[in-house]
Amino acid sequence: MNESESRRPVDFIRRIVDEDLKQKRNDGRVHTRFPPEPNGYLHVGHAKSICLNFGIARDYGGKCNLRLDDTNPEKENDEFVEAIKRDVRWLGFDWEGREYYASDYFPQLYEYATDLIRQGKAYVDSLSSEEIRSHRGSLTEPGRESRYCSRSVEENLELFGRMKAGEFEDGEHVLRARIDMSSPNLNMRDPVIYRIRKASHHRTGDTWKIYPLYDFTHCLSDAIEQITHSICTLEFEDHRPLYDWVLDNLDTPSRPHQYEFARLILDYTILSKRKLITLVDQGHVRGWDDPRMPTISGIRRRGFTPESVRDFCERIGVTKNDTRIDMSLLENCLREDLDPRAPRVMAVLQPLKVVIENYPEDQEEEISAVNHPVDSAMGARRIPFGRVIYIERDDFQEEPPAKYYRLAPGREVRLRYAYFITCREVVKDPGSGEILELHCTYDPLSRGGNAPDGRKVKGTIHWVSGKHSLQAEVRLYDRLFNVANPERGEDDWLDLLNPDSEQILTTALVEPSLRHAEPEARFQFERLGYFVADRYDWNRERPVFNRIVTLRDSWAKVNKNTMADA
Ligand code: ATP
Ligand code: MG
Repeated sequence: MNESESRRPVDFIRRIVDEDLKQKRNDGRVHTRFPPEPNGYLHVGHAKSICLNFGIARDYGGKCNLRLDDTNPEKENDEFVEAIKRDVRWLGFDWEGREYYASDYFPQLYEYATDLIRQGKAYVDSLSSEEIRSHRGSLTEPGRESRYCSRSVEENLELFGRMKAGEFEDGEHVLRARIDMSSPNLNMRDPVIYRIRKASHHRTGDTWKIYPLYDFTHCLSDAIEQITHSICTLEFEDHRPLYDWVLDNLDTPSRPHQYEFARLILDYTILSKRKLITLVDQGHVRGWDDPRMPTISGIRRRGFTPESVRDFCERIGVTKNDTRIDMSLLENCLREDLDPRAPRVMAVLQPLKVVIENYPEDQEEEISAVNHPVDSAMGARRIPFGRVIYIERDDFQEEPPAKYYRLAPGREVRLRYAYFITCREVVKDPGSGEILELHCTYDPLSRGGNAPDGRKVKGTIHWVSGKHSLQAEVRLYDRLFNVANPERGEDDWLDLLNPDSEQILTTALVEPSLRHAEPEARFQFERLGYFVADRYDWNRERPVFNRIVTLRDSWAKVNKNTMADA
């Protein structure tokens, strides 16, 4: 654990846990769970929940289970289960073999349901789903009882058994808890707890024809696993009375309690699974792990570190109020994590050829460059230098504006770690006028970047050797949406996608030391940003890098300008 993790803030949930321990509740146990539904990939919002649940277990010497909440057979599959497990592990958490599935409890849940029926606290309803909805009432009107609500226990048991046996079709009957049709809380108006679904389940296959609903399943799964603190997001606050009702009316192995916190809402992206699925299915991105996606696998491929994501989750804290979090907070956590440990290298994204006229044709040399500006323990490397080098196209301007200190006709600049060069001639395509190359001269006495006469140059630019550099593909990624809150209007969110969120450069050049990089290795390309060797498309002969983040927050200014419409 690093230093920031030992300075962990105490949030309201940890205060509840402290008090429970003080009062010796739950026999002094702390047991949480992370309960994703395997109907999509995890995103950074889930990371907040993962850090909270696993973090509490870690801090209190407790346990945290991984529970796949798989009660909707049509939407769930094993690909999602595997992705979820991979992502939780990547974030640095371990469920220590406690991998559970709500579907493992189907037989027990069925017994609990029949128990409610026997107590007269559940009944089979045969209204259509539209009728059930119209009977439900509204916030201002009480609900109406179903004409089937007074079936006898025997009849309910028999019908429920036949539902299980597959004798009815989807929608013909449901099982409802008998609570209070005039409760001010709509969730308590005889909620449906079982429905018929003739669909094949990713784990139980065709065994079950009926499936329990979330509100019935979740609390009982918690009780079976002897969870002490069942932590979920605020939209479940109104479901808590039902959570408590189910547990208070059944004889369960333990009595967990539910606590709600505000979900993460992140600017410039979306964290709704349904919308993420749309992005993938409609091809707006290249899959769940597209580096622009806010999924864990997406930000991993983009080059984020698990440390930076954990640090971010800690800094945003855990509260009861919904607040939007600025994307730059996540990006800054990443910069702070990478700055001390990412080796510096040189790469040129949009190369412009420079011929150093007074550098001998047959000569080449190696120049020493430090791998980190302050951490000398990271060592140094040697980079080749020769007569032909490449610099960044925008580090040269024929007619430089004021305060432009980089290369221009007749001007001298420093090549990082190497020499001073002066631009003597601009060679252009006679037809198009495009700049093809620059002819420069160098000062042999300025090796290492200092002139012996002490003369100063204002600009320092990066470069790579023409003969030795490797051609690379560099993928520049930016925010997925153009506006801070793409969900503000609901229906037009796809129109708000940032058309420039991905830019692929195929003619970038990188220094030869990068041939030895491993997939997922992260670097700072000097002056350009942090980059990662792509996890999947990495190739030693033709490297592929993703830009993780720029060196500075280039959106800060944009934010100020668009504040009014945010
Ligand atoms: P669904 O609409 O499919 O239910 P979901 O985002 O709620 O989507 P789950 O798989 O049910 O997904 O979520 C697992 C856990 O992660 C839940 O406890 C949920 O409360 C929590 N969670 C989901 N989204 C966020 C978020 N944005 N911030 C914090 N926690 C979240
Ligand atoms: Mg959910």
